[in-house]
Amino acid sequence: MATNRLPLAVVGGGFSGAATALHLTRRLRDGPPVILFERGGRVGPGLAYATVSPSHLLNVRAANMSAFPDDPSHFERWLADDAGQPGDRHPTEAGLFASRQLYARYLCDTFDEQGGTRAQRIGAEIVDCRRSQDGFVLTSADGAEYQVAAVVLTTGHVAPPPAEDTRHVTDPWDPAWLAGLDPSRPVLIRGTALTMVDIVLTLREVGFGGPVIALSRRGLLPQAHRASPPWPLPTLEPRGRKTVLGVMRRLRREVALAAKEGVDWRAVVDSIRPITAELWQGWDLDERRRFLRHARRWWDVHRHRMAPTVADQLAGELEMGNLRIEKGRLFELKPGSDGVHVAWNGPGGEQRLLCQRVVEAVGLTSMREVRPGLIDRLMARGLARLDPLGIGLDVGDDLSVRGADGTVVSGLWALGPMVRGTFWECIAVPDIRRQAAACAALVAAEQRGK
Ligand SMILES: Cc1cc2nc3c(=O)[nH]c(=O)nc-3n(C[C@H](O)[C@H](O)[C@H](O)COP(=O)(O)OP(=O)(O)OC[C@H]3O[C@@H](n4cnc5c(N)ncnc54)[C@H](O)[C@@H]3O)c2cc1C
Repeated sequence: MATNRLPLAVVGGGFSGAATALHLTRRLRDGPPVILFERGGRVGPGLAYATVSPSHLLNVRAANMSAFPDDPSHFERWLADDAGQPGDRHPTEAGLFASRQLYARYLCDTFDEQGGTRAQRIGAEIVDCRRSQDGFVLTSADGAEYQVAAVVLTTGHVAPPPAEDTRHVTDPWDPAWLAGLDPSRPVLIRGTALTMVDIVLTLREVGFGGPVIALSRRGLLPQAHRASPPWPLPTLEPRGRKTVLGVMRRLRREVALAAKEGVDWRAVVDSIRPITAELWQGWDLDERRRFLRHARRWWDVHRHRMAPTVADQLAGELEMGNLRIEKGRLFELKPGSDGVHVAWNGPGGEQRLLCQRVVEAVGLTSMREVRPGLIDRLMARGLARLDPLGIGLDVGDDLSVRGADGTVVSGLWALGPMVRGTFWECIAVPDIRRQAAACAALVAAEQRGK
């Protein structure tokens, strides 16, 4: 069948982009070339796995981290063949957890081996995208233009805008903030979820032994993984599934039922994973807002869990009093000549603290805060729009991007965390790998139809 020979572009070379490019090359063996643009140069790690801290572990068991939905043991086989480094894999009673650095190596190796010659990588940031007669023209930051037939957007997590004062750290993944820490003065982390845990581990790794205070409204900490037998998907009555409260009540009942049979709540939380996106999509906007406001934190700490090794380290920090968890609502954050002054209202009333850094770890930067760049240009050109909650890009069920007027922009697709507002459950590898495979199939079908 005739195919359009213009290349297909994937923009963003983190997990989502690497997986999509691999699936595209598999699908279109004799089809158009695939170009993967990654501004960081290295294809695979993206934000999540680019960490330089060996203590940062995957928060998903190795058994669930294969890049391919149709080959679930691919990562485990790679691990078995890899000589490894001391400390890069942690066998626990809940399964094997690998370091994120090791996983980055897996992604790079897999991409080199399988994407190799068919997927061309270009180390450039794409800053604009406009329609052309045959598809799209992409412009990179250095002014080069690329004519392509279709574009898959996989630009991933949105970097938060920087604060005016560098002691107020909005991007915890940029290690610059770790320089020049005073060992005796406190660091305050805003947020008590997985990013907070990463930050504490990094602080200890760079030798900071001083006090760390983590503050969030409810002070909820992520739960740890545990071995548990699988639990079947509970039936959710049509009326009950329409509301957040209905779903939560149903889950609580199921957890109680499982407990009677000696099965841990984790199995119940995991059991609804195949339908989480469906539940989210079944909620109207008010319900989705209700979830974000009242249930999200609770859901996140139960759903996104820590490796047991990491949980032990955190427990040690808490026991020794080196890490203190505070509940409360921050109402003041003022950098001054002597440090950053923060104040919050907690259960014991108003609390004040002078600290050397305040590090943001609240997660989920909204696309409304997007900085000038590709997404901004796509929206200005009417080729994309935000989902109604402003969390990410608005896409159809088939991952096709919706333009300013709500109609599908033919040939433009998006997947991964950037479409979280549409699916919610699409930020971890087991979900993204399915999206990447599905998207590649759709793009390939469209190309064959041309
Ligand atoms: C710290 C952290 C740890 C995590 N750990 C796990 C885990 O253990 N297990 C799990 O399943 N999930 C984990 N996740 C979830 C994670 O979202 C996914 O696993 C996945 O890595 C998301 O990949 P992505 O490619 O969509 O996004 P990103 O990782 O954000 O990658 C996007 C890439 O696009 C590039 N880019 C952006 N804009 C442009 C542009 N205009 N031009 C060119 N390049 C561009 C960026 O440089 C980046 O490399 C973690 C997430 C984080 C943040």
